[in-house]
Amino acid sequence: MSEGEHEPKRRQTRQGRLVHEAVSRFDHHPTAKEVHQALEGEGVGLATVYRQLARLVDDGMLGAVEHMGETRYDTNLDPHAHAVCNGCGDIWDVPLPTILPSMLTPKRLATVEDVDLTFRGLCPACA
Ligand SMILES: [Zn+2]
Ligand SMILES: [Zn+2]
Repeated sequence: MSEGEHEPKRRQTRQGRLVHEAVSRFDHHPTAKEVHQALEGEGVGLATVYRQLARLVDDGMLGAVEHMGETRYDTNLDPHAHAVCNGCGDIWDVPLPTILPSMLTPKRLATVEDVDLTFRGLCPACA
């Protein structure tokens, strides 16, 4: 491996830490714009927020969920399913249902690395 080609553990910058902390304060998987708003007064521009979020996802410190054409950021790194309200766009975590190993026969998958499961509907406030 040539030098600088693959930095092992990038040191987290102040901006990266601020962005990560801002995402952690939400419980509904914020968009980059919401994170930017939460950082108002910190002098972190929207472009920087986008860049830092992409970096945190790259480094495995944040998850990313696509919803209605927007990327939403997730601090829960354990495998989990999502429930999404189509009205207000809220996203929250729900435990994964138990899947019988027999449903994943060797012909279909030998190993499971990732699960992507989203329930969509309306929350009580929007229903
Ligand atoms: Zn709703
Ligand atoms: Zn989540």
